[in-house]
Amino acid sequence: MVVDSMNPYATALAQFDASADLLNLPQATRAMLRMPKRELTVNFPVKMDNGTIKIFTGYRVQHDITRGPAKGGIRFSPEVSLDEVRALAMWMTWKCSVVGIPFGGAKGGVTCNPKELSSGELERIARRYITEMAIVIGPMSDIPAPDMNTDGRIMAWMMDTYSMQVGYTVPAVITGKPIAIGGSEGRLEATGRGVMVVTREALKWCGMSLNCSVVVQGFGNVGSVTARLLQEQGCKIVGLSDIRGGVFCPDGIDVQEALAYVQEHGYLEGLPGTEPVSNTALLELPCDVLIPAALENQITDRNAAAIKAKLVVEAANGPTTPEADRILQERGVTVVPDIVANAGGVTVSYFEWVQDLQRFFWGAQEINERLELIMVRSFHAIMQEAERRQTTLRMGAYMVAVARSAEAIETRGIYP
Ligand code: NAD
Repeated sequence: MVVDSMNPYATALAQFDASADLLNLPQATRAMLRMPKRELTVNFPVKMDNGTIKIFTGYRVQHDITRGPAKGGIRFSPEVSLDEVRALAMWMTWKCSVVGIPFGGAKGGVTCNPKELSSGELERIARRYITEMAIVIGPMSDIPAPDMNTDGRIMAWMMDTYSMQVGYTVPAVITGKPIAIGGSEGRLEATGRGVMVVTREALKWCGMSLNCSVVVQGFGNVGSVTARLLQEQGCKIVGLSDIRGGVFCPDGIDVQEALAYVQEHGYLEGLPGTEPVSNTALLELPCDVLIPAALENQITDRNAAAIKAKLVVEAANGPTTPEADRILQERGVTVVPDIVANAGGVTVSYFEWVQDLQRFFWGAQEINERLELIMVRSFHAIMQEAERRQTTLRMGAYMVAVARSAEAIETRGIYP
């Protein structure tokens, strides 16, 4: 099959097909897992600050709900499309399966440019989007969370809007909320913490030391926490970037200083003691570990041969195209796949949901210990599967995840 590698849904389907072939999935199970269960597209009006009315388009896709309620973030970005949301929803199904948490996969998004929107406009978009989605979301059916360009503040507006609709407070309808309204300790940094844990485990597996050089693309929630925690583990962070561009210093960048600089200036550009580098060049910098933590399709057939890192840890969703994956495999570069690498976020989202439902909250230490346990166990499960089948970590992860989802479908049977 020829894959349009810049279409994330084509990539997601190609990855699923390859694992379904290897698992010899029965035709019916395969057909059920290949298609999203539900898709909702909404077009809705929003009053802008200048008095005009603008129409926005939003999506929610539930890929599979056999193992539990659908779970997945909401993204605000100009690139949001139905195919992107479909891919991300499918990856969520595998992610929840591979780490063994009882959720199915979903994703949502609004096509908009948050950089051009005021806080009031963002709030009206968030509240109207969740109102439109109220027919498919709920604490027992589909539980959204933050993703690119959405955060705790937006989750709070969404939780409040849903609660207003039903007439009582429903903290468990959304995760990634501020602590004051039922958020969990550790959720803000959970994805980056999970990336740190699997990077540490992967380094051990590859026979590499924690005393290694790391480049991180993307300095948002995931990238900045990953960089800070890896630095605390003894790694040297030699390159960082955001949407405007990257910074490089072979002697190492102090991540705390970078965070303070970004707080003041908004961007990494101009960080004292570093050289500027484009986002394209950043990926090809000499380093031991490369961590794409920004967006899809960053490692492609155009740059895969030039990547110097020996280990790539996919903190972003879908950063490597299938062609690039093949090139990296041929070159002996180990890739820790997104569905495991960035599963820390959904794992602590699961903890948040459990705490909201039982109205009983855990401390940060308990959250981080439980997260560590799940991330280590999941990494070892995919590593063993990859070794057993003599395949890549990605295929190992897909085998574990797809087999678990298939078993759930086959065990439940077909209704009616
Ligand atoms: P974010 O919005 O906080 O940060 C994104 C970062 O990427 C920013 O620094 C931005 O400047 C940078 N960026 C955007 N476009 C870029 C480009 N073209 N080139 C280089 N850098 C660019 O988002 P986030 O929450 O950190 O998410 C990053 C990735 O991690 C996404 O793929 C997301 O789906 C994935 N992810 C996030 C979570 C989570 O809990 N936040 C969980 C799992 C996966």
